Amino acid sequence: MTRTALALNHVAAGEKTSGPATRRAFTAAAQTPRFKGRIVPKTFAKKAAKFLTHDGVALFDNPDALLICTFKRDNALCEPEPRVTAPRQYDCRPGCGNTVRTDTHARLLRERADEIDKLATHTPEPIGKRLPTNAGQLRATADAHNAAAHPAEP
Ligand code: SF4
Repeated sequence: MTRTALALNHVAAGEKTSGPATRRAFTAAAQTPRFKGRIVPKTFAKKAAKFLTHDGVALFDNPDALLICTFKRDNALCEPEPRVTAPRQYDCRPGCGNTVRTDTHARLLRERADEIDKLATHTPEPIGKRLPTNAGQLRATADAHNAAAHPAEP
């Protein structure tokens, strides 16, 4: 199971979500055909690319940023090339309109912040001084999720 599918399962199990693309993500998840695990014909890649370029909403797991990216090129702050069908996840930027987070993402943000704080105690300056700031930003993102999160609509 992909991590995006796992995140959707967490939501189905009652986790709350936050982020500007939440409604779009779950509408897409409910309406978009799934091809996972099927044997597909040679023409599939072309058809899928056309669907994603012109009509579709594609959900991408972004484990580094701890979010689901509901990729829509026009909203993407990571500045993908024209006509691409995927985000530049390695350059994911805060405040993007394609973002969705679940309670699990928020918990993982806090765990990562705790790991960074531990690392900071063993890291010489100047990096050791900067790490707690990074940890604080992760906790602030988790706090923002908790303040804004709501249950998925049926
Ligand atoms: S900035 Fe992040 S959330 Fe936005 S499109 Fe790029 S990868 Fe997705």
